[in-house]
Parts: sequence; structure tokens; C-alpha cells
Amino acid sequence: MFTKILIANRGEIACRIIETAREMGVATVAVYSDADATAKHVMLASEAVRIGPAPVSESYLLGERIIAAALATGAQAIHPGYGFLSENPDFVQAVEAAGLVFIGPSASAIRAMGLKDAAKALMVEAGVPVVPGYHGDNQEDDFLALRAEEIGYPVLIKAVAGGGGKGMRRVDHSADFAEALHAARREGSASFGNAQVLIEKYILSPRHIEMQVFGDGHGGAVHLFERDCSLQRRHQKVIEEAPAPGMTEAMREAMGEAAVRAAKAIGYCGAGTVEFIVDASDGLRPDGFWFMEMNTRLQVEHPVTEAITGLDLVRLQLEVASGGHVPAQSDITCTGHAFEARIYAEDVPAGFLPATGRLKVLDFPKGVRIDSGVRAGDEISPYYDPMIAKLTVQGDTRAEALARLHKALLQTDIIGCTTNIAFLAALAAHKGFAAGQLDTGLIARDLEALVAQPEAGAALRAVAAIAARDWGGGFALWQPLRQSVGLDGEGYWVQVLGAGRYRVEDLEIGILAQNGSHWRVRIEGRVRAARAHRVDGRVHVMMDGLHFEAEIDDPLNFEAGTLAGAGVLLAPMPGLVQAVLAEAGETVEAGAALIVMEAMKMEHTLRAPFDGVVGEVLAHVGAQVESGVVLLRMQEA
Ligand code: ADP
Ligand code: ADP
Ligand code: MG
Repeated sequence: MFTKILIANRGEIACRIIETAREMGVATVAVYSDADATAKHVMLASEAVRIGPAPVSESYLLGERIIAAALATGAQAIHPGYGFLSENPDFVQAVEAAGLVFIGPSASAIRAMGLKDAAKALMVEAGVPVVPGYHGDNQEDDFLALRAEEIGYPVLIKAVAGGGGKGMRRVDHSADFAEALHAARREGSASFGNAQVLIEKYILSPRHIEMQVFGDGHGGAVHLFERDCSLQRRHQKVIEEAPAPGMTEAMREAMGEAAVRAAKAIGYCGAGTVEFIVDASDGLRPDGFWFMEMNTRLQVEHPVTEAITGLDLVRLQLEVASGGHVPAQSDITCTGHAFEARIYAEDVPAGFLPATGRLKVLDFPKGVRIDSGVRAGDEISPYYDPMIAKLTVQGDTRAEALARLHKALLQTDIIGCTTNIAFLAALAAHKGFAAGQLDTGLIARDLEALVAQPEAGAALRAVAAIAARDWGGGFALWQPLRQSVGLDGEGYWVQVLGAGRYRVEDLEIGILAQNGSHWRVRIEGRVRAARAHRVDGRVHVMMDGLHFEAEIDDPLNFEAGTLAGAGVLLAPMPGLVQAVLAEAGETVEAGAALIVMEAMKMEHTLRAPFDGVVGEVLAHVGAQVESGVVLLRMQEA
């Protein structure tokens, strides 16, 4: 086994790899860009080397610098993680030329699978079923259009060098073919520097089921069961699970055998994934799956495989890379069910736009696996993938695991960055998905319902009004204390009835226990859990599966606005009531001085907001009042 390895990556996957290496007693070297100087992966590693400025083209993609860092620190091997240089055969060759071990497949295996057309041709030769279509060299427009006719619409045009769901166009009618062809080529050249395309039959009711494989350099290759990644948006995975719902023994055997054959055909060494497209229109059948592509690296969603097999895939990678053998197929078993949800900084209602921001709160529930490269206080910057964390749960049955996934998502508090958590939770609660009726079109079909944001009800808003202020002891001064709290410009009357007892508008609320952000609240006799956070002048309350957040209005501005409009004068700051210049029943003109307060040796005069009659005067000269306390009420003349 190696004694020191370098991890040529960042974020959650770098942290994930470091954790296993640590457990194995292998020292780790992290690399980092300027944007990551104090990142979690840098802190976790035994040592770290700066490789350049923030942009990936000047840091994480610079193979030479990374190899130099490995040599300088005495690392014997390089783990590429996923993305970046992980599937770059030139990098693998450079690593090996420097006398280092690449923890992954050979350059030739990566090349063989690097382009989708060549990979398909190779798989046909190896006897692996591939999606019917054309994957030859002739790229003339008319020729390709004819092939599409032969295959039969709908077809899928794919950039042969594509990845991450890019460079793909579905075409339903021949009239749209030419335009889609140009679009796929444009995307192929722009993103991957390769305009070549292939054409495939578009499988209707498609499910994405992939097989995790492992090979060693001694001719051994095994599979670690399948993962279902059919919940996709724009061809990108959102929630993954293992095993695949509805999988039959016959189909698993056929798929596992095909995947192992694919791995053996290229002398595969290390972790890899063989992706298949499955026609789910008629259940899962041993003759209803076709090879799409092979990802020659550790996959983002590998934790679900770890959950069902009990194996540590990074450990296996290190063992195989240092000359070990893969376990016997019969020793690899599948127990229970697991789901992974990818938590991203993205604005779902705005069309899944990537979001950025500093994570002020990052709280996950206990009892679930969290893979994350960030901590509270860290920033999601525009330079890198906006992934915040992967949340993985397991259970004895699919239903149990799915219920846990839903619950865990609802118990995750992330503040400071817009996230896709509500969307993921809606997916975890989707009835069809729960019934195992999934295909890659599910999200697009039900998008509106999945993105809909239920309105926060009166109870949630009332708890937020309480959470917006510190009430400790305040009620002793004014009996009973009644304050108006402004949230996003809307006023809520909060009356303190006693310790931990409040009336907000017409709801009676008890705060029974408070442990940090975790509250137990009683609302009209019903007790439930809630979480409350006050961050940067905003209040956030998570309760009943909803997240309500609002700006806490500054009492000073708030008074000038809504409340003053309603004739309610509040203490704008904590202070002393120095003078009361009006009596109940008195008629006053707009702007007339009514109350003078003093705080921090400064006088502040509260004036009549309109022409009217003074109603109640609650302020007494000489009283020390909290900010937000009601001092006087007026009525319009
Ligand atoms: P998966 O997402 O399961 O890895 P895909 O085939 O959908 O499988 O891959 C998406 C692409 O995006 C892959 O090329 C992957 O390596 C890349 N990728 C995913 N996450 C990151 C990341 N954090 N940094 C760089 N590249 C990434
Ligand atoms: P990438 O390299 O971008 O991951 P893939 O070839 O793996 O490209 O395809 C990505 C996704 O596109 C698949 O997971 C699947 O949802 C969809 N897809 C790919 N090929 C087909 C097909 N022939 N029919 C239907 N859907 C497909
Ligand atoms: Mg893919």
C-alpha cells in the first residue's frame, strides 16, 4: 500500500478520499487554488500545495503542476476524484511517465471509452447490447438525416465527446433534424472541442440504470450491483438509488454480465461505471437494456453502492491501484436500499440557476451520511460546481429509505445560499416515484408541482414573529407586553403572556424547549418541532416541512411605515421615556410631538403620523422601555 497519495481534486470528493486514506493510515496531499486556500479539503489533508489562481484552467486542470506537487511532497500516487483530470488519458500518461501511480484505469482504457462512438463500436465487438443507431465516421448532413429516418423518430443526436448531459438533442420529426444537428455540433465543439456526433434511437419510457464495476490488473473484474439514476433534469442526475426498483434477478444477471464483459474488453483496472439505457415501458426485461457509455472513474453517486454493499469504494481503488485483487463476485452482496440526493446551491423556481453565497448555517440531521466539501462560513463561489453536499440514507426497504430521505431533507437547514432542498424533498414525496414508477422524464413532466412552493400558514408566521426578537425578561416591564413585529413589511402583534408563552394575533403559542436552533412549540395545544434561525436581520423558521423566511423590519423604519400608518407609535430603540406630550382624547395635527425618548444621551421625538385623536397612551414618563414597545395609539380624526 502507498504511504502517501495526492488528491488532484477539491470539494466533497477530495474530502471523501482523504477520509478513507486517513483510515488506512495513508498520508494525503491536497492541492488548492487561491479560492480554496482555507477550504475543508485543505484542512483535512496531511499537507497541501497551492497550484494556482481560482479558475480551473489555471489550477485544478494543470496536470504538470499537480504532478510537480506530488513529486515535491513525495506522494507515490495520484487520485483524480471525478471531473477535472479524471478522464484525461494524457494526464494519466504524464503521471506514469513521472514514475507515479494513477489511481484509476490505464490511459488506453480511458481512450477506448472516451468517445461515445468508438466505445459503442468496441462494445458491439465485445457482444454488449448497444442502443440501435449510427456511430460511424460519415458526418455529412444528408447522410445523417437518412440514418435518422432509418432508425425511426424520435432520435437522439449526441456529441461523441459529450458528457454531463451536454451536446445532446432529441429530435421528434425529420423537419427538426437539421437544426438539432447543428446545435449538437455547436455544443460539442464549444464544450469538448469535437463536433462529431452519433445518432441513437430515442428510447421511450427511458430509465437510466448503471452498473458499478471494478477491475484489477490481474484479469479480475466484478460488478457491485446497479444504481438507478432515472431522476434527471436535462440529462443530469438529481436523486440516485440502489438497487434499481423492480430489478429482477434475470435482468441483473444479464446487466452485470454485460458490464463485466465491457470492463474486461478494455482490461479495466479500478472503479468504473457502465451506463445503460433501459426501456421501462414493459417492466424490466433482460433484453431491454443497452449500453450508453462508460465513465472511467469514481462516480458522484458511489455512496449508494457503498451503502448496499458495505464496501468502501475508495479503499478498493487504493488496494487495486497498489496491486491488490478485486473481491470474488460471490462475496459481494446487496443488503437494503439506499438513496442519494445532490444538494446544490441553485434557484429552482428561477429555472435551476446556479446560486452563490456564504453559508451562514449548514445543519444536517444525525444518522445520515453527508459528503460535503464545505463548512458553515464557507462560500459557494462561481468558480466551481455549486454542489453543497450529497445526502445519503439507507433502510431495510425502499419505502423505509425513501421516508428517511424525505425526513432528512426536511431536517436540513442551509442559510446563506438558495438551495434545491425543497425541490428534492418534493421529489422524495412524489407518489409515482414512491411507487417505483420512474423514468428520465418524470421531473420534466411534473415540474410545476415539484417546484410549487406552498404558502406558509399563520402558525409558521407566528413562530417566526416570536423568533424575530429576543423576549427574555421583557415582559416584566410592560404588563402585559404587547409588541408589533414587522416581517417583510407585515405587522404581527405579539403579546408575552409569561415565560415562553405568547399570543401572536389570535394564536396561543408555547415555546416548550429550546436547544440552539431546535425548538419544541405548542400551537393551540398541538406540540411539534421547529427550527428557528436569525441570520443577518432575517428570520428563518422550518416547521411542518416548510421553510419560511422574512426580513425582520427595523422597528424604527417599521414604525415610520405600516404601523405609523395605523397610528401605532413604537419605541424605536431601548431607552427612557422622557416626556409624554399628549393625553388620551386630545386632537393633534400630523407632525405634532407626542413623546420624547432618550437613549445613549440622544433625544428622539415621536410625532403624530397624521391628523387625528390620541387613543391610548401607554408610555409613562421615567419608564425604561425595550425597543419595539407600543407607546401610544392614535385614531384618524
Ligand atoms: P456523474 O454525474 O454521476 O459523475 P455524469 O455522466 O452525469 O455522471 O457526469 C457529469 C460530468 O460532470 C462528469 O464528467 C463529471 O466528472 C463532471 N463533474 C461532476 N461533478 C463535478 C465537479 N464537482 N467538478 C468537476 N466536474 C464534475
Ligand atoms: P453523458 O455523457 O452526458 O452522461 P449519456 O450518453 O450518458 O451522456 O446520456 C445522458 C442521459 O441522456 C442518460 O442518462 C439518459 O437519461 C439520456 N439518454 C441517453 N441516451 C438515450 C437514449 N438513447 N434514449 C433516451 N434517453 C437517453
Ligand atoms: Mg452519462
